[in-house]
Amino acid sequence: MNHLVLLVLLGLSVGSAYPLNGAVKEEDPNMELVQQYLENYYNLTKEGKSVFRRKDSSPVVKKIQEMQKFLGLEVTGKLDSNTLEVIRKPRCGVPDVGHFSTFPGTPKWTKTHLTYRIVNYTPDLPRDAVDAAIEKALKVWEEVTPLTFSRKHEGEADIMISFAVKEHGDFYPFDGPGYSLAHAYPPGPGLYGDVHFDDDEKWTESASGTNLFLVAAHELGHSLGLLHSANPEALMYPVYNTFTDLARFRLSQDDVDGIQSLYGPPPTSPGTSVVPTEPIPPASGIPAKCDPALSFDAISTLRGEILFFKNRYFWRRSHWSREPGFHLISSFWPSLPSNLDAAYEVNSKDTVFIFKGNKFWAVRGNEVQAGYPKDIHTLGFPSTIRKIDAAISDKEKKKTYFFVEDKYWRFDESSQSMERGFPRRIVDDFPGVEPKVDAVLEAFGFLYFFSGSSQFEFDPNAKRVTHIFKSNSWLLC
Ligand SMILES: [Zn+2]
Ligand SMILES: [Zn+2]
Repeated sequence: MNHLVLLVLLGLSVGSAYPLNGAVKEEDPNMELVQQYLENYYNLTKEGKSVFRRKDSSPVVKKIQEMQKFLGLEVTGKLDSNTLEVIRKPRCGVPDVGHFSTFPGTPKWTKTHLTYRIVNYTPDLPRDAVDAAIEKALKVWEEVTPLTFSRKHEGEADIMISFAVKEHGDFYPFDGPGYSLAHAYPPGPGLYGDVHFDDDEKWTESASGTNLFLVAAHELGHSLGLLHSANPEALMYPVYNTFTDLARFRLSQDDVDGIQSLYGPPPTSPGTSVVPTEPIPPASGIPAKCDPALSFDAISTLRGEILFFKNRYFWRRSHWSREPGFHLISSFWPSLPSNLDAAYEVNSKDTVFIFKGNKFWAVRGNEVQAGYPKDIHTLGFPSTIRKIDAAISDKEKKKTYFFVEDKYWRFDESSQSMERGFPRRIVDDFPGVEPKVDAVLEAFGFLYFFSGSSQFEFDPNAKRVTHIFKSNSWLLC
């Protein structure tokens, strides 16, 4: 496996290959720890080769900054004492970025009744204590979703729960006491959905040692399709937090939003035992994809998929699944805002640019690029322009069209400059399209302009609107 080869290469290069501008000394014994941490949880291996070749510190510094940002630390790019302290803390073994696939498409279970099986037991606790901790952890998620769980004592269950030490049959060996406590796989067949606990930990029922219920509740979140949250209040925050008062444990709103974006609320809701601490403001309400009045904030392609943004959420339509995925923006890109204005992909740069107000961000896969947000006026807009309504990039001609109110601008991606002769009126060049435009998508040689709940299919050769659809026709309603 490529992954393992790279690990070996990196292992050999530790020390001499990282002159880190004084941030980290070559002989620093912490370097190996940090190296391992970034490889395990921040996908360092992917860029490992170029680090190795270029003898350049910046990818590692960038990764340290990324980690500091995710974990809510001061972003210094250096291994300061706070950062080292967090790195030494016990945590979940599932990566914070990169995850198990290149694009972290968290799949979800397509059924609401799931089975689980406790395959073996830790010697640290009586068996019924383990059973009770797992049951209670499942209940945490059962209470806020339509999901139900039943136990199997033999054969294959959806969620196979086991205790293991060191190498245990997957590509993620455990690491002895401390550090990685457990890991779990996202929904799917076979190994997917399964939870593994590191039995080199001292598992407990209390707040001392490593509490089995808390770790199990977190890991089962992964089994159901959740990624790590950058919110330190969340159960899905990757670093282990001891709750002093376990009896008062509750999910954070972030966890509830996350799981409900996948499965919805429980059928007999509203207001079961886990109640949000604050009412959800209307703007962040969960949009219904088949609401005939549905409009979109922004639409972009991303590596062959189409993303439809609305409020704090987006639908993701991929080629291989009919049913669009539905996610919180923050679960993919924790630093991005909600209620976006515009988004477009530049395929040649493998980058999606995302706009809100006078700012824009560059995103590659699930990583927001360093140096952003930038001001939209750096693109050449006059100071009177406060926001962009919609944008689309023509990948052949390398031109990007920005729509603002009833006008549009054209940007040359090659020279990185706004073209002369713009803005022009939308009605002159795209007759039949009604401003103002919420979002634009290019597909099958047509441009699709979204305006409120209507969608205009525009033929750029014939220069006319050929069809009008409902905006949500892409979501297979
Ligand atoms: Zn985790
Ligand atoms: Zn494992």
